[in-house]
Amino acid sequence: MMEMIETETRPKLLAVPMLDFSREFAEIREDVLAAIAAVCESQRFILGPDVARFEAEAAKACGVPFAIGCASGTDALWLALAALKIGPGDAVVTTPFSFFATVSSILRVGAKPVLADIDAGTFNLSAGAVEEVLGADVVGVMPVHLYGQCADMNAFTALAEARGVKVVEDAAQAFGASWEGVKAGGLGDAAAFSFYPTKNLAAFGDAGMVSTRDEVIAERAKMLRQHGMRRRYFHDEVGWNSRLDTLQAAVLEVKLRRVEAGNKRRRELAGLYNERFTAAGLVGKTTADGVVLPFTDPRAEHVFHQYVIRAPRRDALREFLTAHSIGSEVYYPLVLSLQESLKFLGYKKGDFPVSERAAEEVLALPIYPELRVEELESVVEAIRRFYA
Ligand SMILES: *Cc1c(COP(=O)(O)O)cnc(C)c1O
Repeated sequence: MMEMIETETRPKLLAVPMLDFSREFAEIREDVLAAIAAVCESQRFILGPDVARFEAEAAKACGVPFAIGCASGTDALWLALAALKIGPGDAVVTTPFSFFATVSSILRVGAKPVLADIDAGTFNLSAGAVEEVLGADVVGVMPVHLYGQCADMNAFTALAEARGVKVVEDAAQAFGASWEGVKAGGLGDAAAFSFYPTKNLAAFGDAGMVSTRDEVIAERAKMLRQHGMRRRYFHDEVGWNSRLDTLQAAVLEVKLRRVEAGNKRRRELAGLYNERFTAAGLVGKTTADGVVLPFTDPRAEHVFHQYVIRAPRRDALREFLTAHSIGSEVYYPLVLSLQESLKFLGYKKGDFPVSERAAEEVLALPIYPELRVEELESVVEAIRRFYA
């Protein structure tokens, strides 16, 4: 009897997609189609003024003098490392709790990835852990601004100065984020961005960008993305073809105008999630006593590329949400130190306990500027029902 009454008064759960690109497209349809049409009319599909204009505007948005468009975020990491002349015989320290490209780009330039554990609060590379693995062959550190929050760049800058190592930011998830007022992309020697369709600044396909404050590095990245040519058909170095497609640049130019407002909305939605989780009495300090909300370092301006909680019985919760047509995702279920293809690095289970635990507990919930408040509330309500 009681149960029936309760069922009737409970709000109905809404289906909530993890991402829905069609909502943004509906808002920008005319501008984007006009930008694509303009490229078609010009018949200039490789580099040209559209790419140069996007690069100039993106550089401005990141507060740096130089931005170099390229084919993907993965290529941007490779170009940044190669432009810094990191290669065989060198080692670069990075995090095991990231997307695969963070480590594969280091391998691609012929250098050795050395992994160090993360901070449990921010999920970002721990500067203290990096110090413990700094061998003589380490020439670079690659912090990842995971989920849209900058890593502790004060610590990495200090470390770089003390040890004479380069800092490459993996800013693939952090366009528009900042650390103590300085934008991601201008916090190290060079940075890599991804404009993969799920990222907070997203192309209609693959695209990426290197940013830097250093003119020499910028020149090298620009040369390397086009077969090591400074002058047509004169190849100073062995580069590659990793140009930013002109059609993608045209799309990105339209979307770049909206990214700041989008990031602001993401922050508001994150605040609303925090509020609703707290009001529902679901929050704990650790997963032993509830859902752990994302921690924002007061020095960071987080852009919430992802809103990620730590959840008790994470996999069962995810199944429950899926059964109610509520999207969620695990970034990332297996740390890089334990990936099949990276076994040769010699790491084993237990080497990075903080990262390994995060891989078991994290759950990303739907967050995008067009997410409706009723949908967000439905996500929290579904999670409340799971734990009730
Ligand atoms: C997306 C992503 C990349 C790779 O970007 P692509 O554009 O997909 O090649 C690299 N690092 C991180 C942290 C990412 O999230």
